[in-house]
Amino acid sequence: MAYDTSTRIAIVGGGCWGLSTAYHLEKAGYTDITVFDRSSELPSPQSAANDLNKIVRAQYADDFYTGLGLEAIAEWKQGDWAPYFHQTGHLVMLSGYAGEKAQGIFEDAAICSQTNASLSPHISELDSPEEIRQCCWQLTGDLAHFRGYLNRSEGYASSADAVKGISAKLAKRGIRFVLGPDKGLVKNLVYAGDGRRCTGVRTRDGTTHSFELVVCALGAYGASLVPKLGQFCVARCWSVAHVQLTVEECTILRGIPIVNAIDLGFFFEPDPETCLLKITPLGAGYSNFSGTTQTNTSLPPLASGDIGQNKALSGYIPEADEAQMRRLLHQTLPWLADRPFVHKKMCWFSDTVDSEYCIDFVPNTDRSLVVLSGDSGHGFKMMCIFGKWVRELLESGRQKHARWTWRKGPGDSQGADWGGNVSWRFGEASETGDIVKEREARTAKSSS
Ligand SMILES: Cc1cc2nc3c(=O)[nH]c(=O)nc-3n(C[C@H](O)[C@H](O)[C@H](O)COP(=O)(O)OP(=O)(O)OC[C@H]3O[C@@H](n4cnc5c(N)ncnc54)[C@H](O)[C@@H]3O)c2cc1C
Repeated sequence: MAYDTSTRIAIVGGGCWGLSTAYHLEKAGYTDITVFDRSSELPSPQSAANDLNKIVRAQYADDFYTGLGLEAIAEWKQGDWAPYFHQTGHLVMLSGYAGEKAQGIFEDAAICSQTNASLSPHISELDSPEEIRQCCWQLTGDLAHFRGYLNRSEGYASSADAVKGISAKLAKRGIRFVLGPDKGLVKNLVYAGDGRRCTGVRTRDGTTHSFELVVCALGAYGASLVPKLGQFCVARCWSVAHVQLTVEECTILRGIPIVNAIDLGFFFEPDPETCLLKITPLGAGYSNFSGTTQTNTSLPPLASGDIGQNKALSGYIPEADEAQMRRLLHQTLPWLADRPFVHKKMCWFSDTVDSEYCIDFVPNTDRSLVVLSGDSGHGFKMMCIFGKWVRELLESGRQKHARWTWRKGPGDSQGADWGGNVSWRFGEASETGDIVKEREARTAKSSS
C-alpha cells in the first residue's frame, strides 16, 4: 500500500518518537494524524522521556550514529527545538574504579571523538584531575585516577519540556490528541479478515477507531500491542534519582557540563526552576520477564495492569545503584555525596542486544502497521529528526537501513540473560523481582 498526505494515520504513543513522527509528517503535509496516549497529559508518566533532561551527543563508536548525532545537534539549535537544547558540553571520563570493558569503551569513544573531523575541533583531552578541574572548577572531589575529555559541542535537552512544548505546538497545527486511561489507552490493535491487515485501534473505553496506517511508538510497552516485538525488544529499566539543592547551590553549579564517568553514571547541571540535580547510574538495567504474562517477554508491570508490582517499585531504586551514584558524587561533588536522593524512580525503555533501533513495517501486515521500537536507552537525542526516518519509510515502502529492520526471529536478540554483553553497558542485568525483594528485606530490617 502506498501512502499519501491524506492517509488516515494513528500514532499510538505520544512519547518522543511518536511526537517526532507526528511533527515531521505534519511538516511534510500529512493532514489526518491522531496521536493516542494512555496518559491524560504529555509527557506521560510512562514515557522514558518524562525526565528533566537527556544527553544529546554525537560521539558513538559507530560513524552511522555519529552522523545522526551531529545532524540532531544541528537541528536542536533550530526553530521549534531550540528552546530545549543546552550546549553545556559533555565531560566524558573514566574513573579509577573502571574495569576492562569500561576502559575499552572509553578508548573507543575517545578515538571516535579525536578522529572524527566534525567532533575533534571541540575536544579537549584531560589527562589528570587538575586538567579536569581546569574545565570544571566545581568538581572539588578527589577525582582519583580520573581521566577523560570535554566535548564542547554536546549538551542536553530538557526532555519533559520538549515533549510538552512540541505536543502543544502539534495540537495547534491540527494533530488530534486522544489522551487518557480510557479514551487514549489502546487495548488492542484491530485487524481485518485473516489478520493480515491492521485496520485500526480499540481503546480501553471500548471504542474502535479505524485507520489506514497504525504506527506503534510505545517505548518499553511495544510488545503489549505487538507481541512478536517481545522476541527481540526487552523492556528494561534504569534508576533515576535527584538531589535537592538550594538556590545558591544551584547557582554554583549553573553551566557545568554533563559529568559522565562512563563506568559509574552521569549528572547534569541542576534545573534552575526546581533546583534539582538529576543523576543516573550506568549499568545493564533490570527486566521484568517473570512479572509479564506473555511468554519470554519483558514488559513494564503496568503493561499487564500489575498495579501491585508497579507500586512495589515506585519511589525506590536498588541499593547497588544508589551506592554507585554516591561513589560518583563522592569523587566529583563530595559536598553532595551524603545528601538524600529524592524523586527516585525506575525509568523504562526498550532494549535490543545490539542497541539498534527497530523502525519498520511489521511483517505480514500489508504495510498497514509500523513499529518504532528498540530505542535501547539512546533515542531521545534523535527526537528532533526521528520522524523524518518514518516519513522516508512510509514513502519508500521499505526500511533502507538493514540495522533498523524488523529482526528475523527470536535468535536475533531474545533472552533474559544478556548480562554484561549489552553493547556499551556494564554489569549484569537482573529482574525487577530482585528489586522488590531487596526493598521488602530493607523495610523488614528497619522495622524490626
Ligand atoms: C534513565 C534513562 C535515561 C536515558 N537517557 C537518555 C539520554 O541521555 N539520551 C538519550 O538520547 N536517550 C536517553 N534515554 C532513552 C530515551 O528516553 C528513549 O530512547 C525515548 O524516550 C524513547 O522514546 P519512545 O517514544 O520510543 O518511548 P517513550 O518516550 O517511553 O514513549 C512511549 C509512550 O507510549 C505511551 N503508551 C504506552 N502504552 C500505551 C498504550 N497501550 N496506549 C497508548 N499509549 C501508550 C506511553 O504513555 C508513552 O507516552 C534514557 C532512558 C532512560 C530510561
